[in-house]
Amino acid sequence: MAAWSAKKVGGCNRCGRCCRGCPAFDAKGMRCRIYAHRPEICKAFPPVPRDIVGVESCGYKFETEVRTGSQDT
Ligand code: SF4
Ligand code: SF4
Repeated sequence: MAAWSAKKVGGCNRCGRCCRGCPAFDAKGMRCRIYAHRPEICKAFPPVPRDIVGVESCGYKFETEVRTGSQDT
């Protein structure tokens, strides 16, 4: 997991996708009601690429995905 965190780029654009279903998520205001005290897993999200597979709205990417399609070999 530590290796992946070094390859994570971008930032949270507050799309709220990863918070859906959480009782602390205010869907109307699109915010976390306990943001200052949110769990470590929330701070680390997404820890690995599979967590955002298919989540087009997420502002994070992993470097290996960014390079996909490049001419580097
Ligand atoms: S606690 Fe975590 S999952 Fe729940 S709304 Fe806050 S940041 Fe999102
Ligand atoms: S899916 Fe990504 S951009 Fe959207 S709220 Fe979660 S971490 Fe932020």
